Parts: sequence; structure tokens; C-alpha cells
Amino acid sequence: MDNCLFCKIARGEIPSNKLYEDEELLAFYDIAPQAPVHFLVIPKKHIESCAAVTGENSVVVAKAFELIAKLTSELGITSFRVVSNCGEDAGQSVPHLHFHVMAGRPFTWPAG
Ligand code: 5GP
Ligand code: ZN
Repeated sequence: MDNCLFCKIARGEIPSNKLYEDEELLAFYDIAPQAPVHFLVIPKKHIESCAAVTGENSVVVAKAFELIAKLTSELGITSFRVVSNCGEDAGQSVPHLHFHVMAGRPFTWPAG
């Protein structure tokens, strides 16, 4: 997607503070962290949101969760929150599937 912010970050056209990268996935720190640790995991291939996950593209979603387990373990994080906002009313501001991974403070429930 030419004009998608996270596609541009995935292509390296916009710089990011990367934690991990492979052919399919990128993890990078959020520019406006909402917790002491706050990074995003995205598929490099454009998927609009959780609502666009299908049998054709869901393998990368499973891989994203494997990566979240690996990175949190490597960072020594044992308690964390994973969030994916889907749609404007849920707070999605970038229409490219991403998982927020946040840690380092207590979180309340239900989420606001
Ligand atoms: P959403 O609001 O869609 O759930 O999450 C989008 C996230 O992307 C926000 O937490 C926002 O701070 C982050 N973000 C927006 N633009 C950039 C950017 O250019 N670089 C980085 N690293 N994060 C960004
Ligand atoms: Zn995109």
C-alpha cells in the first residue's frame, strides 16, 4: 500500500526504532509510548486490521504471537498486555494490522 504509514515503516522509507525484523514481521517501539515498554508488532504485508484476517493470511498472525512471546521473554517481561484496536471507534488510528505490546506498569480492566 503506497500511502500506508506502517507499510512505509516496513519498507524502511520511514525510520523506526526496530526491535526485530524478518521477511514477514517487524517489531518497533511506539513513537508515543503508553507504558515504560511499548512496542508494535506488524506484518510487513498490508492487512487492514483484525477484521481482515482470513484463512489466506492468518499464518502471519500466529507468527506475530510467537514473536511477542519470544521478544517479551528476551526482554525479561513476564507480565504484559497485547492490544489490537480494530476500527475507529476502538481507537485504531493506523489502518495496518498491529499488535501493541505494553509492559512496565499495572494495567486496569476493562480497557478504556
Ligand atoms: P492505533 O492507534 O492504530 O491502535 O496504534 C497506532 C500506534 O502507532 C500509536 O500508538 C502511535 O503512537 C503509533 N505511531 C503512529 N505513527 C508512528 C510512527 O511514525 N512511528 C512509530 N514508531 N509509531 C507510530
Ligand atoms: Zn500498510
